[in-house]
Amino acid sequence: MSAVFIISAPSGSGKTRLVQELLSSDPKLLFSISYTTRAPRGQERQGTSYQFISREEFIARKDRDEFLEWAEVFGNFYGTHESVWLEAQREGRDLLLDIDVQGAQQLKVKIPDAVTIFVLAPSREILEQRLRARSEDSEQVIARRLSAAAEEIRNYHRYDYVVVNDQVTEAVSTLQSILRAERVRRQRMEDRIRPILATFGESL
Ligand code: 5GP
Repeated sequence: MSAVFIISAPSGSGKTRLVQELLSSDPKLLFSISYTTRAPRGQERQGTSYQFISREEFIARKDRDEFLEWAEVFGNFYGTHESVWLEAQREGRDLLLDIDVQGAQQLKVKIPDAVTIFVLAPSREILEQRLRARSEDSEQVIARRLSAAAEEIRNYHRYDYVVVNDQVTEAVSTLQSILRAERVRRQRMEDRIRPILATFGESL
């Protein structure tokens, strides 16, 4: 049974790096590539970080109910396509999603045993430094992201886990521990337990 891991964080928390580290260390994880109407930044390429589409296409797909969840973030639309969840199940992999607080709430309704993780920068000052260091955004965008961060952080209590991204290696290791433990929850082990019990002549 595929597990679903949702990671949310205010932008600048270092979440993208953490997600990349997790994906490269764990081939069982399938990253959910979202659809978005925002323009590509920096090195972003079509189909690797996002599927970049027009507002018209997004609205048409939304109206056809193709998204498991969707939200408007900083004036752009973002959505998780239903096909990623089917793909994870077909391939027997676990799905990792990097989505915002609104999307995490919607997905939790559709997939109640999804595991939710909130990543935090150690302070507002460090968040601001990180946003400036990536120098991909204008001053106006940075100011908007900082005030959105204050709002998003208030939602931390809706999540199962909170990881403070102080040192990247430490934060990655904490995330790996969460994934490892969640994967052996009893309800995710039924498929493994059944053949073991069968060897004892028992059935579930
Ligand atoms: P960015 O533009 O910085 O890549 O992402 C902005 C915000 O949109 C981040 O908080 C990110 O987690 C969120 N986001 C990315 N994809 C999705 C999605 O498919 N659904 C939702 N609800 N949020 C998303």
